[in-house]
Amino acid sequence: MPQILDGNRIRDQIKNECQSRVEELTARHRPPGLAVVLVGHNPASEIYVRNKVRTSHELGIASETITPPENSTTEELLAIVGDLNRRPDIDGILVQMPLPAHIDAKRVLLAVSPDKDVDGLHPCNAGNLVQGRPGPRPCTPAGIIELLKRYHISIAGKRAVVVGRSDLVGKPAALLLLQENATVTVCHSKTPDLAAVCREAEILIAAIGRPAIITADYIRPGATVIDVGMNRLDERSDVERIFPPGRPGSAEKQAAFDRKGTLLLGDVHPLDVAERAGAYTPVPGGVGPLTIAMLMINTIDSAERHLGVC
Ligand code: NAP
Repeated sequence: MPQILDGNRIRDQIKNECQSRVEELTARHRPPGLAVVLVGHNPASEIYVRNKVRTSHELGIASETITPPENSTTEELLAIVGDLNRRPDIDGILVQMPLPAHIDAKRVLLAVSPDKDVDGLHPCNAGNLVQGRPGPRPCTPAGIIELLKRYHISIAGKRAVVVGRSDLVGKPAALLLLQENATVTVCHSKTPDLAAVCREAEILIAAIGRPAIITADYIRPGATVIDVGMNRLDERSDVERIFPPGRPGSAEKQAAFDRKGTLLLGDVHPLDVAERAGAYTPVPGGVGPLTIAMLMINTIDSAERHLGVC
């Protein structure tokens, strides 16, 4: 039986560790401050932001959400970010992506002070990551490394394959694995014979955004498979294609879809990975919970830096 890498369990461990750091900062100085900028009404973004704010409140982090309207201009957002940069009680600024199409997202992200960039996406912090210098790391890739370490899955010397090369997940995940001394290959939509490359992986990270595209053929027996994908299926025909009637496990997936009218699926086929991997992250309950946990760590790190505690 493969080991299931339980992101909720590791998230809870990290939250416990964060709690004492927040209590110490609050007793001696002030609580860490996190500002989230959520533009317009993207339903998925609203859920992500609600979860981030709820977790920070649970820990005693002073968090606030700023909700400029959908039709805000780039200049207006730059002014909001500028104000937050100047506020001494704010240690972390998170601009929730995606921004409406008319806004220059790169300019807005660039305006966040690198010192308050708790998402680790500012080019300065991307550069720090490339050169192995200290700085906030992007939350999802940092969460993956944390998960591997806390499950004692060794990275050094391993053959790692990352599918996806986004600035948010794929590229930083590859750099962090490299820093941990894995031998890393990065794949993308133009990679020929993706399955053959993936089959070389002792650690396979899928950050693609295509439901269940990584099937048995892509997975080396015994590999550790990390599924970053979050894809929502809304059509029963898609569910039946991925989970054909008669295959053991398919009926449960179809029933889950019928109950809710939707099914959350990663980039990795959940039945195939359970048959072939040595260890894997489920969706939901794998990588997702760690993303928020790492945001909390980045915010507390930033507060400790600002308050001269570390
Ligand atoms: P993204 O910016 O759209 O990048 C997707 C990457 O996958 C691109 O590099 C793309 O290649 C590659 N790709 C697309 N189709 C492919 C194919 N058929 N074969 C090989 N590579 C392919 O997405 P992202 O922001 O990195 O997110 C990826 C997934 O992770 C999404 O499902 C997202 O929802 C999820 N996610 C989850 C969390 C979490 O906390 N769990 C956090 C962030 C993201 P090209 O560069 O060639 O186009």
